[in-house]
Amino acid sequence: MVCEYCEEGGYGRLILEKVYWKIFLAPSHRYMGTCVIAIKRHCSNLSELKDVEWTEFSKIVKEMETVLDIIFKPTL
Ligand SMILES: [Zn+2]
Repeated sequence: MVCEYCEEGGYGRLILEKVYWKIFLAPSHRYMGTCVIAIKRHCSNLSELKDVEWTEFSKIVKEMETVLDIIFKPTL
């Protein structure tokens, strides 16, 4: 099965690839720096994620928050 997140080309512009996840700059920028973190395999439910995938996802979120804080210095 293919969805918009795992089909060829992905969702938005690919900016980073990790072992289990791809990070896309979202096509819509309602909020500056909006990104999509998409698993590299088709997965319909979060409950299907493996522990190693959750671990990498957590690291990606922390890295992205740090970078966005440095770049945009949000005040919220
Ligand atoms: Zn999919």
